Amino acid sequence: MTITFIGHGYVGLVTACVFADFGNKVYVVGHTPEKIERLKKGDPIIYEPGLKELLEKNIKAKRLMFTLNLKNAVAESEIVFIAVGTPPKENGEADLSMVLSVAENIAKSLKNDFTVVSCKSTVPVGTNKQIEAILLKNKPDKLKIAVASCPEFLREGTAIYDTMNADRVVIGSTSKRAIDLLVKLHEPVCGKKIVTDLASAELIKYTSNSMLAVKISFANLISFYCEKSGADVETVLNATGLDKRIGRIFMDPGLGYGGSCFPKDVRALISVGKNLGNDTSYLEAVEKVNVLARENFIKKIRQHNISDKKVAVWGLSFKPNTDDIRFAPSISIVEQLLKDGFKINAYDPVAADNFKKLFPPGNISYVDSPYDAVNNVSALLILTEWNEFKQIDLKKVKSLMKKPVIFDGRNIYTPEIIKKLGFRYFSTGRQPI
Ligand code: NAD
Repeated sequence: MTITFIGHGYVGLVTACVFADFGNKVYVVGHTPEKIERLKKGDPIIYEPGLKELLEKNIKAKRLMFTLNLKNAVAESEIVFIAVGTPPKENGEADLSMVLSVAENIAKSLKNDFTVVSCKSTVPVGTNKQIEAILLKNKPDKLKIAVASCPEFLREGTAIYDTMNADRVVIGSTSKRAIDLLVKLHEPVCGKKIVTDLASAELIKYTSNSMLAVKISFANLISFYCEKSGADVETVLNATGLDKRIGRIFMDPGLGYGGSCFPKDVRALISVGKNLGNDTSYLEAVEKVNVLARENFIKKIRQHNISDKKVAVWGLSFKPNTDDIRFAPSISIVEQLLKDGFKINAYDPVAADNFKKLFPPGNISYVDSPYDAVNNVSALLILTEWNEFKQIDLKKVKSLMKKPVIFDGRNIYTPEIIKKLGFRYFSTGRQPI
């Protein structure tokens, strides 16, 4: 099949590479010449494990083409995927301007008798109808189109695996021809195919992300109870999670959810709920707990009175195995620390360059190893649970620090072990040591 992806971000680029790897001819359309040139040379632009290899392999096989020319790519394609960003507006609504303007450009570029236009971007319920109206208004009369909603569920950090082994593939459309084409394209993808209507497909995506945010906020809410009552959050959640109706997965207390999806998608679902006249207080509470999780962490640091205000930060990305810092907890925490007059040594395996764009070097020194970060500081703050922090030589860490104090925002260490090593240890939902 010949297909096109508009947008080469975490979703567009990964899915394009995977579909090219399945043997399809795939065009990827961007709008920044410098990025398209880098992609053509096999530079993935973003950090995603395994992506560079997949990119190089499929460029070499001449199945994966990068271009600025939307017109030619669309004209040749049976399916066109929209995979551009849908960032939040000030009021929480999803900003659909990129999606809708791309839809208009697609309509004006159509050449095939029949083309499927499928939105992979996360969009509020009703958006695909808007896309359909734009396509119908702007396309040449004699050509036929069908709209389909194919929301994406990949996780950054395991995006290639997730795309090839999806928990489910959701295809929303009223066109049998479009559904048949999309089912055929997704044949090599493991995972149940759910064929449904446009509105349900759109809402499945928001329901999934909001449910995951609910689980994280609920774990954080319980951690507040634990800290004040003397209970241990890990024991409480481990035991609770053994109930098969509940499960333990994604119930991790810490600094709350971040990234380019959960924060914006919860806000967008609130906004959609308001437009539909629903009560949105439940989701607003989820957001509130997410903010409280970070404030609780900052409060512990302030209460400790770090006199020289020199700290190390380990982890800047919103989660491990990605360089994505969008809405990462590190942003609000570092912002607060800088306001409080702290000097920070920051280390992240891959996200430091992105973080520097927000916080240029100055009161933050970006260093090349976790050991360099802890050199002569009075506290270590763990903000992302990268594997390399989990089995680090803590004796060496202690020997380098001015004072052996750890604020662990991700509960990556066992308190008993940390205690034996002689650290003071403040984690989440567990008693301080
Ligand atoms: P991103 O910001 O990384 O990428 C968006 C891409 O769109 C960029 O490459 C940008 O240059 C490109 N773009 C914007 N306007 C364009 C235009 N006119 N022509 C060509 N390219 C254009 O975003 P992302 O993380 O890939 O997310 C894309 C969508 O998928 C969002 O709606 C997001 O909510 C959703 N999503 C993201 C993830 C994730 O983990 N990142 C997972 C599932 C769904």
